Amino acid sequence: MPGRILVADDIATNRIVMKVRLSEACYEVLQASGGQDALAVARRERPDLILLDMIMADMDGIEVCRRLRADAETADIPIIIFSADRNPGQKMRALQAGADEFLPKPLDETTLLARVRSLLRARETTQELALRDSTRRVLGFAEPPETFARQGRVALVAARREQALAWKTALRSQVHATLEVMTRAQALGDAGAAPDLFVIAADLDRPGDGLRLLTDLRARAATRHSAVLIVVPETAHDTAAMALDLGANDLLATPFDPAELAHRLEVQLRRKHQADRLRASVKDGLRMAVTDPLTGLFNRRYALPHLQQMGDRAAQTDRSFAVMLLDIDHFKAVNDRHGHAAGDTVLERVARQITANLRPSDLVARIGGEEFLVAMPDTAPDLARRMAERLRQTIGTLPILLPEGRGSITVSVSIGMAISPTGLERDVDRLLALADGALYRAKSEGRNKVRSAPNAA
Ligand code: GH3
Ligand code: MG
Ligand code: MG
Repeated sequence: MPGRILVADDIATNRIVMKVRLSEACYEVLQASGGQDALAVARRERPDLILLDMIMADMDGIEVCRRLRADAETADIPIIIFSADRNPGQKMRALQAGADEFLPKPLDETTLLARVRSLLRARETTQELALRDSTRRVLGFAEPPETFARQGRVALVAARREQALAWKTALRSQVHATLEVMTRAQALGDAGAAPDLFVIAADLDRPGDGLRLLTDLRARAATRHSAVLIVVPETAHDTAAMALDLGANDLLATPFDPAELAHRLEVQLRRKHQADRLRASVKDGLRMAVTDPLTGLFNRRYALPHLQQMGDRAAQTDRSFAVMLLDIDHFKAVNDRHGHAAGDTVLERVARQITANLRPSDLVARIGGEEFLVAMPDTAPDLARRMAERLRQTIGTLPILLPEGRGSITVSVSIGMAISPTGLERDVDRLLALADGALYRAKSEGRNKVRSAPNAA
């Protein structure tokens, strides 16, 4: 996972040292010689990550960070600020200005590189989700409804219960979330909705056990998307780096200022909420890509490959397999006489009637304006014909109530069937062509009829 990193420092030797380190780790390095330069390069080059020195002659790192965040073009780029000033107030100012991390100088290389990898990975995930979401939009699907920001749920897991309770007390007034103290076992066994975020001490019963809990949580479907923040002793650089490489979303070094923990929690909760929304919307988009919005049935795009799979299965298992094409008779006249909205109502009701009279294993799809496909796996020819006949009758006698007080009407359907008695006809295109021919006969022989292709013995 290479990436382009912008290093902003007004001392050339510092930039060069950093460039060597990052280049060795295979990153492409861009340089800026001060604050203004950093803003210009960031805007022009859109790097994947920005490293900012706190003290620069023309503009300090915090101000640069604030401006990057305020500009839509650069607002999403992860930022690490580093400084020799260890004053905790300085760190909080950097985080509040929107920095993702603040690292003390001299920089610990292991920690720095692990942090860089982690931030780049997180950015890639968000971008991928956003890309899928925008594809969904390009395909013309509506904007998902804005969900209300619900109260987040945070689980606190420490070596000793008193420790976790102390975190809880310190955080209570500062975080907009439900805080729950949990043991390791409770975190893994939690039956309800997964917490949005776990705060876990790196050392639980045994040193490093917190990292094992992290991987266990990542391995479970219920907690895979929960954010995890690992609390590590300040000097444990290797543990910190390992936690990030194992997928921790954030780190906090002890001893810590509760305000810093609260700030990091808020940031992670906000990101988690945003990612949840994107995921939900992508899932929704996938569903919408394969269904017809009017009837809720599968669309043609889904139905044809699925039909092929059903055909292949039938052939492998020597089972009989039936395909029906249904077409509403004189549907154009419904539109002409009663309006398009009435036509839509008829389509919906006919679709519902088809589904209600078939088995869950049967595939029902709307493959054209007023044309439906039904595929029935494992269905003997005789049964298939009876089902087709029953469908024709129930639809033809169903009174359909039209909107806007236009009374009710009935419509009929013509049905063409093709059956592969022993799954021998594995070419579903041919089966469909046969069904289409049978449908044509049903129409030309007077409509409101079921006709079977000649091979449907
Ligand atoms: P036939 O008995 O030969 O099948 O005649 P028909 O009128 O049903 O068939 P034709 O193919 O001539 O007309 C189909 C009509 O279906 C034309 C089209 O405007 C209408 N249609 C297609 N999709 C929709 C839809 O989503 N809603 C509505 N209301 N009408 C639709
Ligand atoms: Mg028709
Ligand atoms: Mg038609």
